[in-house]
Amino acid sequence: MTQIKTDIFISGGGVAGLTAAAAFGAAGFQVVLADPMPPITDEKTEGADLRTTAFLQPAQQFLATAGVWDRLAPFAAPLQIMRIVDAGGAEPTPRVTKDFNAADISDKPFGWNLSNWLLRRELLARIAELPNVEVRAGIGFQSLFTRTNEARVTLTDGTRLTARLVIGADGRGSPVREAAGIGAKTTRYGQKAVTFAVTHSAPHGNVSTEVHRSGGPFTLVPLPDLEGQPCSAVVWMEDGAEAARLAALDEATFNAEATRRSAGTYGPLTLASRRMVWPIISQLADRMSAERVALVAEAAHVVPPIGAQGLNMSLADLACLLDLAQAAPDQLGDAQMLQSYHRRRHPDVMLRVKGVDLLNRASQAENPLLRDLRATGVEALYGLAPLRKTIMKLGLGARG
Ligand SMILES: Cc1cc2nc3c(=O)[nH]c(=O)nc-3n(C[C@H](O)[C@H](O)[C@H](O)COP(=O)(O)OP(=O)(O)OC[C@H]3O[C@@H](n4cnc5c(N)ncnc54)[C@H](O)[C@@H]3O)c2cc1C
Repeated sequence: MTQIKTDIFISGGGVAGLTAAAAFGAAGFQVVLADPMPPITDEKTEGADLRTTAFLQPAQQFLATAGVWDRLAPFAAPLQIMRIVDAGGAEPTPRVTKDFNAADISDKPFGWNLSNWLLRRELLARIAELPNVEVRAGIGFQSLFTRTNEARVTLTDGTRLTARLVIGADGRGSPVREAAGIGAKTTRYGQKAVTFAVTHSAPHGNVSTEVHRSGGPFTLVPLPDLEGQPCSAVVWMEDGAEAARLAALDEATFNAEATRRSAGTYGPLTLASRRMVWPIISQLADRMSAERVALVAEAAHVVPPIGAQGLNMSLADLACLLDLAQAAPDQLGDAQMLQSYHRRRHPDVMLRVKGVDLLNRASQAENPLLRDLRATGVEALYGLAPLRKTIMKLGLGARG
């Protein structure tokens, strides 16, 4: 039977797990990562993750630390302005439009948008440069046994390994979280997101636009031009049955409905990718750590896709964990390090899960009175410059 000894075992090779492998590998730690699903690194292959992720400033810095940003930069679309549009009146036309400009708080854009399938490709290319990182694709985490000084992990192919630290980056149903006996509280909204790319005649001007009416936000995020035409990624949140109906519409009808729901933001929208449907939930693990185990990303927290918080919170988890590991490498995975990790991350994560939950409920509102209240709220909040700037800074990851 194969027996391996490593510093860090990472369960899960989604964007968070792969970034963790690149970052800890670049810092000189011995890393083994396992995932039962081999990563798909080509957008044409069935099952490719066609979503995009907006990496906010701190996440971009972390990707640079992991040695992966230079590879990603040529494909990244900057986000200079976040535009909130309320179209909750009788007709789906804008009645309140407010621009949050990164220039008010920084000399850089808020962030940069990248395709998830491309992120996997470039993260794997970076990992291939690191001889101290081993990726076991097609093999899953199976079981965990921990003692004070090490964790023992068994993989689905029977491989056994010992690690000083196990990182659970294995998604919202995290097997590592379950094996470590950490509970999680889940909130369901009965809501789904339809994701797709569109081309349009008007340029996006590096503006990310959230249009609120009912059912959830309709968000357009800038992408680089596609065959000479302006292009954006869209996340369209609706109640589950409505999302299923939209995803099944023929293209011409879908284009017309998407254009109407976008409140005419960039003129007529034309579908430029497959459509995918994602369930929307909020979830928070009771703890970020257990003996020899740290939970990161969706294994620890899931939020609706509003304000680009999800993966950005995940990279903040990784930055914190790496910071602690590098400050005291001999104590990697010990009780003190993991207690510090939990203490530093859990309050911020809790605040963001609650905040995004509230924003999502406000955006879902069907009742015209609540929709009016939302529009008034956006106006009032925007009118107070110091509050507006604080909110922008919080959105970028500053601590409350
Ligand atoms: C529509 C939508 C749009 C979004 N947009 C943004 C955005 O703009 N910005 C942002 O910051 N966030 C965004 N998010 C959130 C972001 O996509 C997620 O936070 C991120 O994809 C989750 O990454 P993850 O690696 O934690 O989980 P996953 O991608 O779910 O990866 C988990 C991995 O664990 C693996 N796994 C499962 N079981 C095992 C096992 N037994 N052993 C080992 N591995 C296992 C799975 O195969 C999978 O590869 C969005 C989310 C949605 C739904």
